[in-house]
Amino acid sequence: MIMVFIVGLFIGSFLNVCIGRIPEGESVVFPRSHCPGCGRCLTAVELLPVVSFIMQRGKCRGCGGEVSWRYPVVELLTAVVFVLLFGRFTGVGFYLQAFFYGVMIVIFFIDLEKQIIPNRLVLVLLVFALVVQVFWPVQPWGTALIGGLLGGGVFLGLALVSRGGMGGGDIKLVTVLGFWFGWVQLLLMMFLAFFVGGLIGSVLLLTGLKKRKDGIAFGPFLVLASFVVSMWGKPLLDWYFRISGL
Ligand SMILES: [Zn+2]
Repeated sequence: MIMVFIVGLFIGSFLNVCIGRIPEGESVVFPRSHCPGCGRCLTAVELLPVVSFIMQRGKCRGCGGEVSWRYPVVELLTAVVFVLLFGRFTGVGFYLQAFFYGVMIVIFFIDLEKQIIPNRLVLVLLVFALVVQVFWPVQPWGTALIGGLLGGGVFLGLALVSRGGMGGGDIKLVTVLGFWFGWVQLLLMMFLAFFVGGLIGSVLLLTGLKKRKDGIAFGPFLVLASFVVSMWGKPLLDWYFRISGL
């Protein structure tokens, strides 16, 4: 468990690099990590997840520039997500879920910061979902394909009705998520995403943090709802069917 947490911290550190570079179209491998302020390459001590941020009090050792809060947050979040997945999935299932949510964390933060979901990342998830469906299927192909069509269809409809309120990146991502979850779990995921998204959207509008025309990235809600479904989807659906008497 502690091993999974520590590995999660280091993978979170790599996800930070992906979040910063993928929207710029840069390689996630080269060049080595450097301070965006002074360009100095980071030493091994400065690359320790969370620890170096705390030791340096969130400042660059070279120029004293602020290090974004995003770095320790993503590292800790990845570690916690990995530990939760480790408690829920065993064997190869854990590694598949860990990879999937590694990519999803990158999507979450890129959409939050830039309001885009890069095609490259959706493509990675699509190829991954297809490979998993071939080698480690958890549902029939029909369930997966209907899920993809349903998710893409609903969001395409929303994009047309809202005239661009829902972006092309959201449509593509939900199509892949529908295929990944199958249509039953997809319905639960979309319900949760709209519920939480509506709630937080209302709070942001009421508190004046956002104006109606600002638009709010929807990708983070899709990622959050997906994680809840992966972790607790089955008990949630069982509970729903019990109380609704279906
Ligand atoms: Zn610096």
